[in-house]
Amino acid sequence: MPHLAVNEIHANYGKMAVLHGISFDVDRGEVVSLVGPSGSGKSTVLRALVGLTPVTSGSVEVDGTCIDYSAARAVKAARDRMAIVFQQYNLFQNMNVLRNVALAPTKVKGRKRKEVEEEAMELLALVGMDHKAHAYPDELSGGQQQRVAIARALALKPEILLLDEVTSALDPELVNEVLDAIRRLAGEGMTMLLVSHEMAFVREVSSKVVFMDQGKLVESGPPSQIFDNPDSDRARDFFGKVL
Ligand code: ADP
Ligand code: MG
Repeated sequence: MPHLAVNEIHANYGKMAVLHGISFDVDRGEVVSLVGPSGSGKSTVLRALVGLTPVTSGSVEVDGTCIDYSAARAVKAARDRMAIVFQQYNLFQNMNVLRNVALAPTKVKGRKRKEVEEEAMELLALVGMDHKAHAYPDELSGGQQQRVAIARALALKPEILLLDEVTSALDPELVNEVLDAIRRLAGEGMTMLLVSHEMAFVREVSSKVVFMDQGKLVESGPPSQIFDNPDSDRARDFFGKVL
């Protein structure tokens, strides 16, 4: 049974249909990447999975259990199992790094602050930011802030981490430190669904690549197949431009 099964999901913005039946699986500990042109629906897939964009038909299963996106409680449960990090990291500016990471588990889960802060320090170490635990966001570079944002997303112990172009807003010299942190998470066996324009990185960390265009899944497979030997003209054309 896959850890995450996405079955024929459709999503709209208002009356405009944006996803036209997307299906793929993610196994436990696997990194799956969504790639495709701008506007192809990659972000919408991630947003739909965590209930930020309504799924109008189709289903999503985590460990074989369907998420009922019409029930607020079920969406909350889905969000407990999946966490999303965006291009804009939006740390709380008035709190130091440690508080940013520890806030949700203490406030939302009502857990003891000391215990949560110990875990937060471990997460910060994982993304190479433990030495800045007491710094404030405006004292950090964009790459450092994004690494803190990833640690913050992990603080609620999601089973699946969704990363939407987390390096796209960064200056080029800061991209690698964030990719290193993601690489380390992959090494730890974190299940991840990744949207990234860093094609060399996608190729390196993913076991499966899903190529999307115009709200449809065009083809999916191992990175070597999708990058070097795609079946579709659309994928060939896209990779011809970006690789
Ligand atoms: P990608 O992440 O692949 O660039 P998106 O999922 O952001 O693609 O967008 C898919 C389609 O949905 C695009 O046509 C985009 O213009 C549209 N779209 C995205 N966000 C919104 C929104 N908030 N309101 C209306 N349309 C949107
Ligand atoms: Mg996007």
